[in-house]
Amino acid sequence: MDEATYENYKQAGKIAADARDYGVSLLKPGVHLLDVASNVEKRIIKNGAGLAFPVNIALNTLAAHYSPTHDDPRTFQRGDVVKLDVGAHVNGYIADTAVTVELETHIYDDLICASADALTKVIAAFTTHLPLSDAGKTIENTITSYGFKPIENLMGHGLGRYELHSGVSIPNVGALGGKSTLHDGDVIAIEPFATNGAGHVISSQGSNIYLYKDTIKAKFIRDNKAKLVCDKIRTHFGTLPFAQRWYHELFPKDDLVMKKLAILGLIKHYPQLVEAKGGMVTQKEHTVIVREDGCEVIT
Ligand code: MN
Ligand code: MN
Repeated sequence: MDEATYENYKQAGKIAADARDYGVSLLKPGVHLLDVASNVEKRIIKNGAGLAFPVNIALNTLAAHYSPTHDDPRTFQRGDVVKLDVGAHVNGYIADTAVTVELETHIYDDLICASADALTKVIAAFTTHLPLSDAGKTIENTITSYGFKPIENLMGHGLGRYELHSGVSIPNVGALGGKSTLHDGDVIAIEPFATNGAGHVISSQGSNIYLYKDTIKAKFIRDNKAKLVCDKIRTHFGTLPFAQRWYHELFPKDDLVMKKLAILGLIKHYPQLVEAKGGMVTQKEHTVIVREDGCEVIT
């Protein structure tokens, strides 16, 4: 990794971490999810980074993939177990980080500790020599030592330039990942999830998070309006996920066009990912640069 790339990552990491911690300071019963998401996003932009993806707020049995809509009425409740997941990028170099907070109660302290401790332990063990299955084993063993299960079908991931999920997956269980190892300078997001449920997630309704898929199909859109919207989406969001809120700001009256583009396969709508047996879910995530002799946490 060259010096300029490294500096971009360091900056993205610093801004993402600041936004995460700022977001945590806003979490209180009665506060709107929408206000937290939009204030955290404003903070990332004010600090000079781009949004790598919409701020995700996943409550309780929802593990991942929810961002408030532009008119989202939901507010936090006392006792909510909140996963706040934020991403910033500097010149396309992405930092991705998440934390879990339980609002005013302490029923799930151990579950919160389990995913956090798993992350600490796997970070301490991570080098270019660590087989990915061993990383998964460390996470799995730590979480099961608390009496909980890791979520086996959610994984950490490589980060590429303007690419949120590049190639490699970092498993949360020992049965995945095999003997493969990473290279010096690889940048990855590691994100253990712990649950008192089944240990896997299933897809649910829409997340309000979308991704533009640049396919040949874009050339064949006949509808002029749809073509215009499609071009604008590509220009504004490129290869990174975007929120219904952001789309709505650009095209306040064009929700139908969005539906059309989704049907054409030009836009992917991510589903919410909920615990299969309705278990409570916690998550902790850091972005790290993997080195020969360890790894550097940038968030
Ligand atoms: Mn994340
Ligand atoms: Mn991630």
